[in-house]
Amino acid sequence: MKFCSKCGKEILDEAVVCPNCGCSVKNEIDANDAPSAGFSVLSFFFPIVGLILYLVYKDRSPMKAKSAGKWALIGFCVGIAVSVVWGLVIGSLLGSMFNSMLMF
Ligand SMILES: [Zn+2]
Repeated sequence: MKFCSKCGKEILDEAVVCPNCGCSVKNEIDANDAPSAGFSVLSFFFPIVGLILYLVYKDRSPMKAKSAGKWALIGFCVGIAVSVVWGLVIGSLLGSMFNSMLMF
């Protein structure tokens, strides 16, 4: 089973036209659509690439696009968390350096 990309109704795999809305459905959605591990890893480390992959694939391969989009979001959040932690670490290091300099 696949789904019409226009109305979302379930249609037969061999259907060329959606019986519900009449739109052509042939080859609109990649038959091998599945979450892609490669996309996920790439998106995690390069959230901007994941965003682009999501936008490029969201119509043809929704599952692939979704996995890329999800990991881009996770990678983005982890990236922010890591920079905040680094900011705090460097901030406290600089702070203690200033403090020890002021003491002398
Ligand atoms: Zn339809």
